Amino acid sequence: MKAFTYERASSVEGAAKSAAANPASKFIAGGTNILDLMKLEVECPTHLIDVNGLHLDKIEPTPEAGLRVGALVRNTALAADETVRRHYGLLSRALLAGASGQLRNKATTAGNLLQRTRCPYFYDPNQACNKRQPGSGCSAIGGFTRQHAVVGTSNACIATHPSDMAIAMRALDAVVETVKADGTKRSIPIKDFHRLPGNTPHIETVLELGEIITAVVLPPPIGGKQIYRKVRDRASYAFALVSIGAIIQPDGTGRVAVGGVAHKPWRLEEADVELKQGAKAAAGVLMTDARPTEQNRFKIDLVERTLGAVIAQARG
Ligand code: SF4
Repeated sequence: MKAFTYERASSVEGAAKSAAANPASKFIAGGTNILDLMKLEVECPTHLIDVNGLHLDKIEPTPEAGLRVGALVRNTALAADETVRRHYGLLSRALLAGASGQLRNKATTAGNLLQRTRCPYFYDPNQACNKRQPGSGCSAIGGFTRQHAVVGTSNACIATHPSDMAIAMRALDAVVETVKADGTKRSIPIKDFHRLPGNTPHIETVLELGEIITAVVLPPPIGGKQIYRKVRDRASYAFALVSIGAIIQPDGTGRVAVGGVAHKPWRLEEADVELKQGAKAAAGVLMTDARPTEQNRFKIDLVERTLGAVIAQARG
């Protein structure tokens, strides 16, 4: 691990300012991803800004009858929260499908959104990787790609976003609240928060230098059957090959977001419109423009079959 300096932030504005003043710095909260990356020297921040003391760990109702989830709320606490379990069951189920109990006890809401891909080439500094080192190439293309993306890919990167929680947030139309280095606040719809890789796969979100997440806001509950189904190579502690987060209303309409298939939580509102027609129609829209490899072509069928199972479950 490379040497770094350490600071305990005492205010949100101070943390943002400090991060902007040092472009090679990183925020640290739960540390469940950044520490591994530092040990492997995939990430080499010269300065760590510990944000654990910023009191962003509350879950509170909003005046609009939604829910504001502080950036530092641990995944375990969010999954167990009574309001989340009752009105945002999709979020609770997605959280519990991720990682392990120990990791969920440490991992935070903001950190979960910002976690890096689990592409094995990204984690191996001996391999070319445009995400780790821009312009160096992509070892995954032409390599082992069973876990990789099938939609929204580019010639520079075919990695997936690993978060389960983010799939639920996308289906729920959450909004990410931030504070910039100049102290101004932003509300970013989750659909705009993560980026597709394009030619700059190392830039994964629309956050600006120093900008810090303070909360994620859930809109008022919309009811419906809320289901998260994750297909993976083993029953626990594994990333999704494909996951479906869906909210299905009694009349068959609903929303669907897909994990394990793209560089960001994958939802196309045009697919929501097709949900009533069934899994084939909706999955067909979701997988339009898919560019699979020979090794991950199976994901296209798997999306349809998993969505079919989710719709059947919703119909009882
Ligand atoms: Fe790196 Fe993306 Fe290629 Fe993986 S898929 S090696 S993360 S550029």
